[in-house]
Amino acid sequence: METATVNGAPGVLGAFGGDPRRAIQEDAITCLVCGGPFRQLNNFHLRLHGLTAEAYKERFGYNLGRPLMCGALKRLYVQRAIQVGLAATIRHRPILAQPELRRRGGIRPLALEELLTRREIRLARRTRREP
Ligand SMILES: [Zn+2]
Repeated sequence: METATVNGAPGVLGAFGGDPRRAIQEDAITCLVCGGPFRQLNNFHLRLHGLTAEAYKERFGYNLGRPLMCGALKRLYVQRAIQVGLAATIRHRPILAQPELRRRGGIRPLALEELLTRREIRLARRTRREP
């Protein structure tokens, strides 16, 4: 059984069953420090708690690539990025330039969010296999 530790704010995170992914919903993301609902957790707000976006994600177990915004806003940004062809402007891809990064891919530390998602996928596979 995998375990992950989460520091502080057990009250707010507890309201989401200890699953930080549930704090991100279609129309709001709940700040797990103060419990306030927002469209996105920007640097200004996180600074009020003495945190950076990276520190917030680490503290509550989010994947470091997770955008701190509600589902509706995330979809808007994704559509905009596709419209302007943002992916085509990415020139430096370290995983292609440094093959050892690909080899090390399996031993990086996992965030709580990824552990929870992996557990759900395993359970879904097990359930599907049963007759
Ligand atoms: Zn807050």
